[in-house]
Amino acid sequence: MAEKIDCAVIGAGVIGLAIARALALRGRETLVLEAEDAIGTGTSSRNSEVIHAGIYYTPGSAKATLCVAGKHLLYTYCEAHGVAHRRCGKLIVAADQEQVKALQKIEATARANGVHDLQWLTADEANAMEPALSCLAALLSPSTGIIDSHGFMLAMQGDLEDAGGTVALRAPVRRGHCGPKGIHLEAGEDDAVEVSARVVINSAGLYAQQLARRIEGIPSATIPSPVYAKGCYYVLQGKSPFRRLIYPIPIPGGLGVHLTLDLAGQARFGPDVEWVDKLDYSVDPARANRFYSVIRGYWPDLPDGALLPGYAGIRPQLRHPGGPGVDFLIQGPEAHGVPGLINLYGMESPGLTASLAIAERVADAVAGDR
Ligand SMILES: Cc1cc2nc3c(=O)[nH]c(=O)nc-3n(C[C@H](O)[C@H](O)[C@H](O)COP(=O)(O)OP(=O)(O)OC[C@H]3O[C@@H](n4cnc5c(N)ncnc54)[C@H](O)[C@@H]3O)c2cc1C
Repeated sequence: MAEKIDCAVIGAGVIGLAIARALALRGRETLVLEAEDAIGTGTSSRNSEVIHAGIYYTPGSAKATLCVAGKHLLYTYCEAHGVAHRRCGKLIVAADQEQVKALQKIEATARANGVHDLQWLTADEANAMEPALSCLAALLSPSTGIIDSHGFMLAMQGDLEDAGGTVALRAPVRRGHCGPKGIHLEAGEDDAVEVSARVVINSAGLYAQQLARRIEGIPSATIPSPVYAKGCYYVLQGKSPFRRLIYPIPIPGGLGVHLTLDLAGQARFGPDVEWVDKLDYSVDPARANRFYSVIRGYWPDLPDGALLPGYAGIRPQLRHPGGPGVDFLIQGPEAHGVPGLINLYGMESPGLTASLAIAERVADAVAGDR
C-alpha cells in the first residue's frame, strides 16, 4: 500500500528545499524525497555562492523577475535566520571601448529588471576601490553578495521540519505513474517506499528530465532536452588582492571567468564553460592554463602557478551550445496536462538567489490543488 501524502517534493537542493518549506509553512503536509544521503549535494553545493543582483537576464523573464525578488527575500531571510552572508558588492569590468559598450547594454538591461543601484566607475575610481584591478571602466553593483549556501539550506530544512515537513534521505525516486487520485511514486533503494501524492514537485536538478521520463503519464513531447555546461573553478593560492567580486563581460553560456570570494576571504576563479554529455565533476589541472590570460585581462599581476584545481559544477541548461539563452521552465498542468504536477527544468544560475521567490511562485501555483 502506498503511503498517502499531500505534497511530495523530489530533490533536496536549494530549490526543492525552498519549495518544500513554502508548502509546509502554508500548512501542507510535505515530504521531500532525496536520492543522496545528505541535502544539497548536487548543483547547490557546486556553484559560486553569489547572491546575484539581477543584472543580466532578459527583462520580463522568469530569471529576471525571480532573481530580483529572490535577492530581497534572501537578504531578509539571512538576516532573520542568522545565515552567514556578506553584501560585498561586485565590479563588472570593461577592458576596452567595445566592452564599455557592452557594459552600457548591461546597465540598460539591469534598469529594465528593476536594478537601479548600479554605479559607473572610471578606471581611477575603480582602482581606488580595488588597487590590483586593471580596467577602462567598471560598473559597481552594491547589492551583489555572497552566502553560505549550505547554512541557508540547513536553515530551510529546519523551517520545514518545524512546520511538520520531513526530508527522507537515500530515497531516490525510481519511477511513477499519474492516476486519477494523484501521482504514485516508487522511491528508495533496498526498502522501496511507495507514496501517492496529490501534488508532486519535480525538483531533481540535472536529473529532472530523466525523472520525468520515468513517470508514466507525462507526455514525452513536453520534456525538454537537457544540455549540460560544466564549469570548473580554480582556487587562488595565498591572499586575495580583491575585496569585491570581479566579473568580466559575460560570455555565451556563462558569466565569464570571474573572481568570487568565500566568506573566509578565499578567492577562486571560474566557472568556465565546457559543453559536456556526461555528469563528471573532475577538474583537469591543465585547464587552469586557459584561465591565466583571461584573468590577466583584469588582474595583470596574477602570478604564474597561483591557481590550484578547485571544484566543478554543471549547469542544467535548456539551450543548445552556442544558441540563445533559455529561461527557467516551471512547468505546470497547463503544459503537460497532469493535475498537481510541477516540473522544474533548466534551473541554472541564478537559481540559488531566486530560490525563495521560485518557492512562492510554485506554492501559489499549487494552492488551488487542495
Ligand atoms: C557552476 C555554477 C555556478 C552557479 N553559481 C550560482 C551563483 O553564484 N548564484 C546563484 O544564484 N546561482 C548559481 N548557480 C545556480 C544554482 O546553483 C542552481 O540554480 C541551484 O543550486 C539548483 O538547485 P536545485 O535544487 O534545482 O538542484 P540541485 O542542487 O542539483 O538539487 C537536486 C537534488 O535532486 C536530487 N535528485 C536527483 N534525482 C533524484 C531522484 N530521482 N530522486 C530523488 N532525488 C533526486 C539530487 O540528489 C539533488 O540533491 C550556479 C550553478 C552552477 C552550475
